[in-house]
Amino acid sequence: MNPTEILKEIAFGILALPFLAVKASVRAYCHLQFLRVARMPAIACYCGSAVSLVGIWRCSCTYTYRGHLLRYCPLCGSMPRMVRCYACGLTTKLPEPAHAETHQ
Ligand SMILES: [Zn+2]
Ligand SMILES: [Zn+2]
Repeated sequence: MNPTEILKEIAFGILALPFLAVKASVRAYCHLQFLRVARMPAIACYCGSAVSLVGIWRCSCTYTYRGHLLRYCPLCGSMPRMVRCYACGLTTKLPEPAHAETHQ
């Protein structure tokens, strides 16, 4: 590799940095949102009523558990993607952990 090639590599690396930083901060922000909701006992629905996140939940694989909604199912490893409001029936999308795609 000649010096100009190396300089080119470095230049491309520096140019890519802002994009990588934005991507990383977006991921970090998503994960922070997830951690925030994972500690909350309820979230607000569009209709104004609170949707409880703590209770008895049934996974799509029929595994039923008690506690906070935002956790991986020990049976199939899936994470709940949304929660339904009992007052109006609307579903609210839940934040996903940053490493969600590795758990498929
Ligand atoms: Zn499951
Ligand atoms: Zn509602």
